[in-house]
Amino acid sequence: MFVDVIIPLAVEGFFTYSVPPRWQEVVREGSLVAVSFVGGKRYTGVVHRAREEAPAGIVVKPIDRVIEEGFALSATQLRFLLWMSDYYMACPGEVTRAALPVAMRVESRTCFTPGAPAPADEEIDEGERRVLQVMQPGKYLTVAEIEKLLGGRDPIPAIKTLLDRSLVTIKEEVDDLFKPKRERVVRWARPFSEEALHAWLDRLPPGQRALLGRWIDHVTRERLDSLPVASFRRLIGPSEAALKGLRDKGILQIVAEERSRVESGDTTARPLNVLSREQQRALEETRAWFNTRDAVLLHGVTSSGKTEVYMHLIRETLDRGRQALYLLPEIALTVQIVKRLRRHFGEHVGIYHSGMPDAARVETWRKQNGPDPFPVMLGARSALFLPYRDLGLVIVDEEHDPSYKQTAPAPRYHGRAAAVMLASFHGAKVLLGSATPSFESYRHATTGKYGLVRLLTRHGEVSMPRVVLADMADYRRRRLMDGIFTPPLRDEMARVLGAGEQVILFQNRRGYSSYLRCDRCGEIPRCKRCDVSLTYYKQQARLVCHYCGSIRPLPPACEACGEGNLVTRTPGTERVEEEVTRLFPGARVARLDMEAVSRGRSARSIIDRFEAGEIDVLVGTQMVSKGLDFERVKLVGVIDADALLSIPDFRVEERAYQLLVQVSGRSGRAGERGTVVIQAHDASNRIHEWIARGDYDAFYRVFAGERELFRYPPACRLIRVELRHAREETARRAANALADLLREELQQRLSGPAVPEVGRIRGEYRLHLLVKTDGIASLSRLKTFIKTSTAGLLSRPGFKSVRVIFDVDPH
Ligand code: ADP
Ligand code: ZN
Repeated sequence: MFVDVIIPLAVEGFFTYSVPPRWQEVVREGSLVAVSFVGGKRYTGVVHRAREEAPAGIVVKPIDRVIEEGFALSATQLRFLLWMSDYYMACPGEVTRAALPVAMRVESRTCFTPGAPAPADEEIDEGERRVLQVMQPGKYLTVAEIEKLLGGRDPIPAIKTLLDRSLVTIKEEVDDLFKPKRERVVRWARPFSEEALHAWLDRLPPGQRALLGRWIDHVTRERLDSLPVASFRRLIGPSEAALKGLRDKGILQIVAEERSRVESGDTTARPLNVLSREQQRALEETRAWFNTRDAVLLHGVTSSGKTEVYMHLIRETLDRGRQALYLLPEIALTVQIVKRLRRHFGEHVGIYHSGMPDAARVETWRKQNGPDPFPVMLGARSALFLPYRDLGLVIVDEEHDPSYKQTAPAPRYHGRAAAVMLASFHGAKVLLGSATPSFESYRHATTGKYGLVRLLTRHGEVSMPRVVLADMADYRRRRLMDGIFTPPLRDEMARVLGAGEQVILFQNRRGYSSYLRCDRCGEIPRCKRCDVSLTYYKQQARLVCHYCGSIRPLPPACEACGEGNLVTRTPGTERVEEEVTRLFPGARVARLDMEAVSRGRSARSIIDRFEAGEIDVLVGTQMVSKGLDFERVKLVGVIDADALLSIPDFRVEERAYQLLVQVSGRSGRAGERGTVVIQAHDASNRIHEWIARGDYDAFYRVFAGERELFRYPPACRLIRVELRHAREETARRAANALADLLREELQQRLSGPAVPEVGRIRGEYRLHLLVKTDGIASLSRLKTFIKTSTAGLLSRPGFKSVRVIFDVDPH
């Protein structure tokens, strides 16, 4: 018996192994198997297919073992994985890497331990002896650990020869795939009758009697049968001698109990909120659409109660005995949703995202494959890869959010598109929800492919915020700017803060100034490895590249002319924070951006403090726009709307509109009407008018129309081919050669090579070719053609070290 295995690496195709008799009964498609690959490295692979015969002419190695059934992929999971590999032009192994938690695909943390003792006449050389000396029976060491114990000597040759003679044995890391978490607890050594306990209490010395008395009281009151050792010491008594006495007499014992790492909520489930009439209508329309459509777009303004509608649909799905998956673009920012779901679904809600400890991810995976899986799973896009027995509903919340797209590494998939596909494999329905739908989904919804349901009023008589547009160019001309603030924003802040309410300020740039410029020669400090200017961080007095992360101290003067001063330009969040403090010295200000979050303060704690009213003004990047629900925010200020519209990308207006409407949606979510002040230099841009009116349709018609005209998504699909090389000349020649190969067949559909916005990152030059799939009958044939042409190019002398990256539906 043989199996074709997917190795979790960026290698094309499948690899055939033989299956030793003892594993033949258990191996199946989807099984995880430990195998050795090139160079003896060990991997956890996924069985793609079982077969009777091996391909002729190759040496077939046996699999090492089959990994516990609790981790095997179902047929649907396997199908999903292979679909993703095909559609996104990624190797099956790359998708496997994305799908499995690290611990489930560990590579070569092979461990060794001494084997049989060497017979007296065995010849053991110096190297082997040293290795055997540092090893201890029963203790498994990795190569790296042995190497360290040997003071840096390479142990591999000796280990190999020792292995051949069974003087050392090997253990694959995969043995440790699932290490249950254990906790030491105190518990009854055996069951006791009441009389037996009384008898003991009479006979025990005073110290032990007192301790046992307290233990009995506690466990009876709390209805427990065990207590963690630490809690025992705290609650019952720290008396070691008395505890030892009770253990020696066989009354109590200390044992290690298995503990779950999987978080779950409490069991007290509160009923769902009663839906308003509008919400009820939306729910019924959604249900009706589901009779004839697999996907429905719920276009509901911010705070209309979309989440409430989702929860009712989840309830119905569970009542039918099926599972629901609730996807969010970024789990870190959605503590609030977790709380809301758990309030009703309690312990039935599982959570899964890449920011979780790996062991907890592995355990969740195992639980989903077990007898008692979570009926509701809340997660980021990686939750798509979990095992589901029977998904009935997939919710894609904030479906427009670009963070659903994985930009690197491969597979460069879109969580929304993948969710729709996964749902179809399960026969599940998909609900996409947003206040600012993606053009992709809106097009489907208006052309009849998806159902469309609207929810155009906020819940509970709350009005949409009043939007004020502040013309920065005009105020600047009239010298009325106060630092970075226009009078309307400054005055509104004063009013709202004076009333003890909260403000959110949005500026989509980190740091103090997005670049610096010499006031004499005009030089802009740039990154040495990337074609971008450096961002200035004032507090840390340094310049940072946002592409490669390299950091330089701030030079005292311009390095080009040696004399000029470096002056700040477009303000970032750090500067905004400083300006707020200058204008409102009494206000408590905090910042929510990648920098603040990476420097220890978690997004969650910042959000919690803002929610608790410990912060008056929250300054942030797009992180503040994401689905947060604060009751006391009465003003949202957009510092510089033009910055959002000056990015060279065909989605720029869509993205700007989404960000502006989403961030505005944080204002006045409860009670009195809120205000939004948008500062812009180009106040005449039509986009602001549509935002103020909340007229998504008018906005969509114009810009989707433009994209239709120029054949951009959603009117057709794009495939981007990126070529990278350390030498500009090589990158260019390779890109031209590939363009020639592709153009023969693709003609007008191919554009480029073109230099992307940032033409060099980490010292690598990049060039883009863009394929429009307009009018192409077979997408999969096109993809094969692109892949074969690329392989042809890379086999030519001189191009071997060129890297080529495919991105299907790029963002
Ligand atoms: P959306 O998801 O559309 O932004 P939410 O579901 O978050 O809207 O609703 C906004 C706020 O109004 C939330 O605090 C929510 O608890 C509350 N809310 C919405 N609908 C109801 C309802 N039917 N009953 C009680 N509270 C509701
Ligand atoms: Zn850089």
